[in-house]
Amino acid sequence: MNLKTKGVAKYINEPLVGRITRDVSSTGENSFLICEEIPADINTNSFEAILTSKDTSHLVENKPAVYAVPNFDHLSEGDIVAINEDGNINTLYRVNSFHNVLLATERCNSNCLMCSQPPKDRNDIPRLYSINQKLISLIPKDCIELGISGGEPTLMGEMFFQTLENLKEQLPETEIHVLTNGRSFAWQSMAERLAKIDYRRLMLGVPVYSDYYQVHDYIVQARDAFNQTILGLHNLARYNQRIEIRVVLHKQSIPRLTKLAKYIFKNLPFVEHVAFMGLEFIGYTPHNIEKLWIDPHDYIEELGEAVEFLSGQGIHVSIYNSQLCVLPENLWQYCRKSISDWKNEYLPECQNCLKLNDCGGLFRWNLNKHSDYIKPFTAIEM
Ligand code: SF4
Repeated sequence: MNLKTKGVAKYINEPLVGRITRDVSSTGENSFLICEEIPADINTNSFEAILTSKDTSHLVENKPAVYAVPNFDHLSEGDIVAINEDGNINTLYRVNSFHNVLLATERCNSNCLMCSQPPKDRNDIPRLYSINQKLISLIPKDCIELGISGGEPTLMGEMFFQTLENLKEQLPETEIHVLTNGRSFAWQSMAERLAKIDYRRLMLGVPVYSDYYQVHDYIVQARDAFNQTILGLHNLARYNQRIEIRVVLHKQSIPRLTKLAKYIFKNLPFVEHVAFMGLEFIGYTPHNIEKLWIDPHDYIEELGEAVEFLSGQGIHVSIYNSQLCVLPENLWQYCRKSISDWKNEYLPECQNCLKLNDCGGLFRWNLNKHSDYIKPFTAIEM
């Protein structure tokens, strides 16, 4: 599924954020009207921009527009998009999805071997902050869950906390899940500032890849990262923040996985959830594949030990991005359909599998890099 398309911008001097509509009778403030013909009797003040696949002859003088757009098939009524000076139309929020995420920044202070969205060293924070504030005001109040991702969101500094305050005020019923490497919280003042927001719907997802500092620092390619993250986690716990630990499964993290599970239980017993996550074949991973790839079938034993140990200690555990046919049946209870809908695909052979509806499938970009042991369940085996 596409989350962006592009046309030619006209009368756009800064990013504009608005809701998609195709219905000329339901336009309003912050509406972007998709149409091929502008009705003669329409009040052009009743919508903020025009999006069209046609040429310039359908535009209105001084009304922001993107024309010559190939198609709008991926956009539903009510979806929220940003239209930009360069003609890009970026989907920010999809009304029919439970997997919406605010992009905080593409900057990061780590540089993980398997980063799915490699950091970009440019100051995008003020621009994205401005877009996200407008977006938050337009998100439906019944939104169940929203992620905040990066890059590293805490690099926004005060703007990070202001974003959370804005979310708490405007979407009080929405569960917020922030992906952060946790290093910024090594500064107690950061944890203290977060605690002041008093946001019980906020959960922080923090990666810890090893119980041994050198392995973790190598995986995230940042010296002293392990110590900062662990100190950050303790500061967050001191201020009673909700924490999830995320562990990506690959050749570097697997050998000490059981030790890591014991380390988490002993040193981070306050965490609410531990997620073990299959590797995504995107971003840096294809470049580092020799250092990272291990067939998921070949780490079943380590994964099983780590999961059963933590679960046995009463910690809530999940396995993400995995396929049921690769795992033994005793681990299925931990598997979640975790892959965002727009990234989620299945192999052709999955169409004949009796477990298709229960299985989380694969990332779209893992269709060419997956376990050799994927095999559909048939009636005979069941
Ligand atoms: S064959 Fe496909 S649908 Fe069936 S369990 Fe394996 S990955 Fe899932």
